[in-house]
Amino acid sequence: MKDYHTHHPTPAGGSICAVTRADWERVAAAEGMTPCFGIHPWHAHEVDVADLAFELDDWLSRYPHADVGETGLDASERHSATLEQQRLLLHVHLGAAFRHDRCVHLHGVRAWSELLTILKERARCNTLPRVHLHAWNGSHELAREFLALGATFSIGLRELVHSKAEERYARIPEGRLFPESDDAPADWPRTLALFRLLRHGL
Ligand SMILES: [Zn+2]
Repeated sequence: MKDYHTHHPTPAGGSICAVTRADWERVAAAEGMTPCFGIHPWHAHEVDVADLAFELDDWLSRYPHADVGETGLDASERHSATLEQQRLLLHVHLGAAFRHDRCVHLHGVRAWSELLTILKERARCNTLPRVHLHAWNGSHELAREFLALGATFSIGLRELVHSKAEERYARIPEGRLFPESDDAPADWPRTLALFRLLRHGL
């Protein structure tokens, strides 16, 4: 099973996401992985939006197998990017992904509902790209709304050991929920074992 959201090259293969602009070269060079170009919402205040729009277009043209990410919304206090800055950047990522027909890796902290509103609006305008929600920890009711938009999800160790894991994840259909290591490659074997247990009772 490949790793559906990581920031490190891994023998399992999978999607390797940039966090800042400085990561793009490293991510593009990761052997056997799908590179994802983007700016993490925590760093939204560090980039010029017009420059990013231009560069993202250029890099996606040069790397036809690449996806977009990591982007999203984070309403926690763990960083200094405002939600306004994050929203602007999120739209640049979603627009580029739609034009180039790529998948977008989304991060959401205390912001799944707002992300849903943004994605629904894009679906209504026929400008919604494929979306992948990483570290998914919303309710099943919310998951159903994202599923209706074609979303896929991934979960890591933190989500898998949560007391609500069963009720959150057991009803997500086959082929829409996957494992991820995110920033903890050492957790991968345990993540995979718990993921298989949750999904297949193995
Ligand atoms: Zn991540």
